[in-house]
Amino acid sequence: MLLSITTTREPATDLGYLLHKNPARLHSVPLSFGTAHIFYSEATPQRCTANLLLDINPVDLARTKQAAGEDIAYVNDRPYAASSFLSTAIAKVFGTALSGRCKDKPELAVSPIMLEVTITTLPCLEGEELIRRLFIPLGYDLDITSYKLDERFPEWGESPYYTVTIRGRKCIKELLAHLYVLIPVLDEEKHYWINQDEIDVLLRRGEGWLARHPERELIAARFLKRQRTLTDRALQRLMNGEGAEHSHNQLPGRGSAQKEEAWEESLSLREQRIRAIVAVLKEVGAKTVADLGCGEGNLLKVLLADKDFTALTGMDVSYRTLEKAHKKLKLEDMPSVQKERLQLFQGSLLYRDKRLQGYDAVVVSEVIEHLDEDRLKTFIRHVFGFLRPPALVITTPNREYNVNYPQLPAGEFRHADHRFEWSRSEFRHWAESAAKQYGYTVSIKPVGSLDPKTGAPTQLGVFSR
Ligand code: SAH
Repeated sequence: MLLSITTTREPATDLGYLLHKNPARLHSVPLSFGTAHIFYSEATPQRCTANLLLDINPVDLARTKQAAGEDIAYVNDRPYAASSFLSTAIAKVFGTALSGRCKDKPELAVSPIMLEVTITTLPCLEGEELIRRLFIPLGYDLDITSYKLDERFPEWGESPYYTVTIRGRKCIKELLAHLYVLIPVLDEEKHYWINQDEIDVLLRRGEGWLARHPERELIAARFLKRQRTLTDRALQRLMNGEGAEHSHNQLPGRGSAQKEEAWEESLSLREQRIRAIVAVLKEVGAKTVADLGCGEGNLLKVLLADKDFTALTGMDVSYRTLEKAHKKLKLEDMPSVQKERLQLFQGSLLYRDKRLQGYDAVVVSEVIEHLDEDRLKTFIRHVFGFLRPPALVITTPNREYNVNYPQLPAGEFRHADHRFEWSRSEFRHWAESAAKQYGYTVSIKPVGSLDPKTGAPTQLGVFSR
């Protein structure tokens, strides 16, 4: 995978200052998925070209992905195609330029200069028209070379890979931000799991141009892997003129997993839920507990205070939330005996993770409703089939109860990131079928104030092997 950046603005070798990479040297930067090499193929006062060569080993890549439970073939196009790997590499090796800084020539970083970029292999299934729709409104000239899928069999049609050159007068920061966002939009296959934090990334990189781009909806949707809730949220923030600095936390209850309590979550419901979970853990005699999707660690805090629990693990997909948990639990100041009982790490319920095996009990509280429904099968396979804890506690909202929240518009979920909320019979049906499939029994309990018609706000399933 090769990307080259050329300038003809004299002295062209200033490109080295802009990119913070000395033209006289070869720079090799290790990345988690391979190595990025930066080298200059020409460096004269009239013309200077920096190349970013991304070297990904497809076999290593397939092994790590397969170990994480994903399907990917050993022979894949990732080493050759411009993709989100390239964006990650750009952010890593040209991070300073991307942030608009230039130590030695600060005025250069903010001056638009003639820049030309060639991406040797840019994948776009929709064809070159989409490439034009994305780059032309940003003021670039384009050269696109298309290829036959196989020269010997023209009837097979066009290949989905293009060699693309874009040319324009841009600040280096703008140019890199455009590439950072638009390459994965064209390729549409992110190499990492995305969550709310990705909205911030999109808004930060899209600052100053995305809100005015005629294709902003398509860009947001594809950058956010077509996750509708994330896309809506991103567009709303974009059109409200919010930058990335305006964390979604400032919008109570909308789009923020951390603000779960916004609607219904009077402190007392959360407390009642924690109490109900602890009671179950005691009842089954669990000593070691993993809390998956632990959020800010409210349950862990209570468990930690109880000596009966000898080993506790909190896992969450959101790094930022884990940092908050870290603070809330005062991990820094904790005596080491105490600290040894607890570990926190980042992970996902949708990835098979050996570190989570062997616990007496696993808790998944108020998390499943954040997963897309078509991912629940993977969740069941991993938690019931792979982790197989002797006891498993799952809680989720009871949708029927929502009529008791007068401020909550009819038909809306309690939280913008909820993908669904289940009625009592829907949860029972799901729980019983998962239990049956993996040799568990299940009993379901109501948590919170019980309404005669609609039940309790939270439903809690206890699964025993
Ligand atoms: N269990 C906590 C937090 C619930 S909020 C409580 O009961 O208070 C939902 C949490 O699930 C969020 O912290 C979110 O980051 C996390 N989450 C969402 N999808 C996840 C996934 N696929 N894997 C792990 N955690 C996930």
